[in-house]
Amino acid sequence: MLKNQDPLLYREMGRDYPVAERAEGVYIYDTAGRRYIDAAGSYFTMHVGHRVEPVIAAVTRQLQSLDFAHTGFFTSEVAHRFAARLLGLAPAGFAKVLFTTSGSASNEAAIKLARQYHALAGKPDKIKVIARWHSYHGGSLGALSLTGHVPRRQPFDPLLLPFPHIEPPYCYRCPWGKTPETCATDCADELERTIRLVGAQNISAFIVEPVSGGPLGANPAPDGYMKRVREICDRHDMLMIVDEVITGAGRTGTKLGVDHWGVVPDVITMAKGICGGYVPTGAVLIHERVYGAFERAGVALRHGETFSGHPLVCAIGDAVLEFIERQGLVERARTLGAVLGRRLEALRGSPIVGDVRGIGLLRGIELVADKATRRPFPRARRVAARIAQACADRGVIVVAGAGCVDGVDGDTISLSPPFTITEAEIETVVSTLAEAIDVVAADTPAAA
Ligand code: PLP
Repeated sequence: MLKNQDPLLYREMGRDYPVAERAEGVYIYDTAGRRYIDAAGSYFTMHVGHRVEPVIAAVTRQLQSLDFAHTGFFTSEVAHRFAARLLGLAPAGFAKVLFTTSGSASNEAAIKLARQYHALAGKPDKIKVIARWHSYHGGSLGALSLTGHVPRRQPFDPLLLPFPHIEPPYCYRCPWGKTPETCATDCADELERTIRLVGAQNISAFIVEPVSGGPLGANPAPDGYMKRVREICDRHDMLMIVDEVITGAGRTGTKLGVDHWGVVPDVITMAKGICGGYVPTGAVLIHERVYGAFERAGVALRHGETFSGHPLVCAIGDAVLEFIERQGLVERARTLGAVLGRRLEALRGSPIVGDVRGIGLLRGIELVADKATRRPFPRARRVAARIAQACADRGVIVVAGAGCVDGVDGDTISLSPPFTITEAEIETVVSTLAEAIDVVAADTPAAA
């Protein structure tokens, strides 16, 4: 007989989760009557906030006409509308949208798309996708093979595809010992070096997040990186896949994260915020130069899921993206993001805040035991997790990240509130975070 009769399998053993009961705007309320600011955006998803009226109306309308029709038999007007809105987020030249059901599924589809694209071009050995350490691309085995976040990979390592990983740009701990002044984007050269080692004839694509999310604490690419990556991909006939699962649809103050560097990828993978967190979702946006190979061959992409293009999901996505556009929320993410960034800068005064980073409303901090040497806290101290818990105890939800330094040590806190957050709420989030950091710092001697 099991001791624990609760039927749910939780993400962590031995942790008491509050029971969420209702939500409104930037707030989630639990059954004990406590209110939380959702500064995590429910893990980078709640772009427009909770229970926005036009989204609720769209759900009701859709259910009154068409609930579900499988894409093996039908298409639907609402799927066309949502796809058109998604293409409206992408640079010119993006032609097609493949709907999936999650970020993981989008990245799975992108792996297959890249392989099939090269096979159609008579290059069947171009199969491997190069990815980056400390990245997160999803939990299914293909997406986990791309993922470079060691704590999530390690238990399943023997099951993973042999995809090479390179160092990401990580300016606070530049592996090449460069500073912003001396940066020559050696991190992009690392891609070129790895291609030579693995052989371009074996590589289909490179996958990159414009801003690394949870694992690296909202770490953006340095200027020049994306452009160099684009050149290298072109030179070696590799697709450039940009994982916009957390950065897409305005999170960083531009339609896509990659827009900050004016680079046009070949494939864009999306999920989470494109439906505002209201339903599971995913999409792959495909450039016409990639889709053209399929069109010329008259061959479809061999990827399908039962619920891809679900009318209800599309109605929600259509309503969410319309709401973002009508309310000018991309611009708001930019301006409010700058406010959040400025407020967070003040945390540098704390003896354990080593770095403050991010773009738009995707921001993070890195916590260190020694600011001069940037020495991290040992994993066992669970510094980020304890800070996140102290924030939650005070009514603010933030994302704790672990392992950014070497896959074991390294603590980050990430923030990605709804774009509708106000300056006053930002003030509450940052002052609560500051208090939580102070409490945990006082209880954590720097010496390990
Ligand atoms: N890609 C990125 C950058 C992510 O942050 C995530 C999830 O956090 C994923 C992919 C996987 O998305 P999902 O959890 O919807 O499968």
